Amino acid sequence: MASQRAMHNACTRRFLRRGFSTTTRRDADFTHAIIGGGVVGLAIARQLQGREGASTVLIEKHGTVGTETSSRNSEVIHAGLYYGPDSQKTPLCIKGKSMLYELCARHSIPHRNTGKWIVAQDDTQFKALKSIHEFSKQVGVPTRFLSKEEAQRREPDVRAEAGVLESTSTGIVDSHSLMQFLEGDLENRGGICAFKSPVVHVNPLDAGRGGWEVTTKTPDGEESTITAETLVNSAGLAAIPISNMILPPDRHRKPFYAKGTYYSYAVSRPKPSTLVYPAPVPGHGGLGTHLTLDMAGRIRFGPDVEWTDDPSDYTPNRANLRAALDDIQSYLPGIDREAIDLDYVGIRPKLGKASATSGGKGFVDFWIAKEDGFEGFVNLLGIESPGLTSCLAIAEKVEALLYR
Ligand SMILES: Cc1cc2nc3c(=O)[nH]c(=O)nc-3n(C[C@H](O)[C@H](O)[C@H](O)COP(=O)(O)OP(=O)(O)OC[C@H]3O[C@@H](n4cnc5c(N)ncnc54)[C@H](O)[C@@H]3O)c2cc1C
Repeated sequence: MASQRAMHNACTRRFLRRGFSTTTRRDADFTHAIIGGGVVGLAIARQLQGREGASTVLIEKHGTVGTETSSRNSEVIHAGLYYGPDSQKTPLCIKGKSMLYELCARHSIPHRNTGKWIVAQDDTQFKALKSIHEFSKQVGVPTRFLSKEEAQRREPDVRAEAGVLESTSTGIVDSHSLMQFLEGDLENRGGICAFKSPVVHVNPLDAGRGGWEVTTKTPDGEESTITAETLVNSAGLAAIPISNMILPPDRHRKPFYAKGTYYSYAVSRPKPSTLVYPAPVPGHGGLGTHLTLDMAGRIRFGPDVEWTDDPSDYTPNRANLRAALDDIQSYLPGIDREAIDLDYVGIRPKLGKASATSGGKGFVDFWIAKEDGFEGFVNLLGIESPGLTSCLAIAEKVEALLYR
């Protein structure tokens, strides 16, 4: 609320200064307006506010940052192994990973370089591991095959009949602490966050050459409009509807949502100390029912994949529990099935019903683009995994798109 008041005051000051004259880029209320206060929007706002003379507003519909996808994920710092040579996910993930490790170390943001095992139970799965290893060599991401003896010694509870590929640069991060840091740093640099401010209308002035009008409406019905020289759409699950507010009908897209239910584990054994992923299955919308750890060392499994039409459908679904238990037991045979229960849900914003990995049918890349025919507008669509890992690199890319 306080931040919303701050936006209101900032706008009022600027409106008074320019006496409600016709908006031009030069005298807009803000240099940058970013729609969406998830980890990606926060990283972009902080990056843009670092420019000389910047005045940035981050507009968020909820009362705090990061209450949607950015706090409903696996919190894994991905290595960049899955997305193939032609995807911008690969360079953004690899660069974002090293930027994130560096930022976390410098500012004491809780994180851990846990490493990750990708396990194969048969020849087909082992072939998938071999192609990941080949690709990782091409892009300079460290991976190595473990001998049976080393695997058995290090993680005796993990079953990997056909082999283990280890990714040493994978890790985990406390996404809430990361977002708290990004929000604080944005404000230290002079940017502001406007909470409880759902964007309901966007008006490009002279196709963006005259700046952008952004209208928000509070839950009690109060509307307010600000102007900004540039606009970034980073609204996560709502990014396609926002994009459709701006682009002409022939460039409208249909959003797809892949819901993922996580499973908790209530007992302390078995407890591997590394992340464990099954070999990826081509065509799957996620990375398989994997085992991750949080910063407190708690195990969680998942997420599964289920298509939904409702981007707010956060009720965990029991329907896939039995299949997930079978998946988990394939690599963790000593698991206590009774101790696994439903946990939380995250929803992947998808541009199509497509595979999460490059080998699968219809793999779709991040869409991060300065839209043709509109000045000063960057659109971010389909920012699913590895968006958390990539957030700092995405922020640099958005700045380059706006100012190169
Ligand atoms: C199940 C799952 C697991 C994942 N695991 C990982 C992982 O381990 N590692 C990894 O790197 N990535 C992972 N990801 C991806 C990562 O979580 C996302 O890429 C990232 O959080 C996206 O951040 P964002 O800021 O784009 O979106 P969001 O966090 O969704 O933020 C968008 C914000 O926009 C706001 N908004 C929407 N509409 C409006 C409006 N009209 N007006 C104002 N504000 C609006 C929303 O309230 C929201 O706060 C995972 C994703 C999912 C779903």
